Amino acid sequence: MPSIAENLETVQERIERTLQRCGRTGGDVTLVAVTKTHPVEVIDEALSLGIKHIGENKVQEALRKIPMLSNPYEGFHFIGHLQSNKINNLLRLKPVLIHSVDSLHIARELNKSLGRKNLTQDILVQVNTTAEASKSGVDLNNAEEMIWQISALPCLRVRGLMTIGLMSLEAGKTRPYFVSLRNLAEKIAGQNLPGVEMRYLSMGMSDDFEVALEEGSNLLRLGSVLFGKRNYGGAD
Ligand SMILES: *Cc1c(COP(=O)(O)O)cnc(C)c1O
Repeated sequence: MPSIAENLETVQERIERTLQRCGRTGGDVTLVAVTKTHPVEVIDEALSLGIKHIGENKVQEALRKIPMLSNPYEGFHFIGHLQSNKINNLLRLKPVLIHSVDSLHIARELNKSLGRKNLTQDILVQVNTTAEASKSGVDLNNAEEMIWQISALPCLRVRGLMTIGLMSLEAGKTRPYFVSLRNLAEKIAGQNLPGVEMRYLSMGMSDDFEVALEEGSNLLRLGSVLFGKRNYGGAD
């Protein structure tokens, strides 16, 4: 089995090659290593190899693991569905970015908690571009209005959009969904809403990150391509 170091090198090469192919200059893509289900030692190893951003999708798991890390990291990203009763615990971990604000309800709850603590928080709005019922995210048709409403919440700063593509073995099939996220971001950017800046497009996972880069992603969330397949049974 290849090591994390080897995987990381391969991934970085693939990112570079893709950026070159589509005429994008390097350096503007942030790689978030998705460390869910992996133990603290694995995360520390990734950090020692130069990974700077880590992502988790469950508050309880993050709360258990993040404080135990030995190596420093630049940013902790929350990428999972957020429930209101987990907000305060999440905020304790000082996420650099919450990728997964998927309803006005959770946005308002977050804003309330942040207000009590005198904090502001960078967030992305998660859009369910594929319209699959199994997936979180605001519907594409409702996203714009939700962002208008979030823009009135003083403690939240919308910094872009996130989507999960189609779970397909053919990466190309997910391209239209990435395109629709980018189009939405461009539309919203043109509206100059207060507190809203379309800086990040968080799209691209292990199976489709090259297509995502071709369609303008600058925030990749990669798990299995770095750490191997996840074992949901007996991790940590
Ligand atoms: C697990 C997860 C990822 C990483 O998935 P891989 O296919 O292993 O790269 C990315 N984004 C979200 C929201 C996830 O839950």
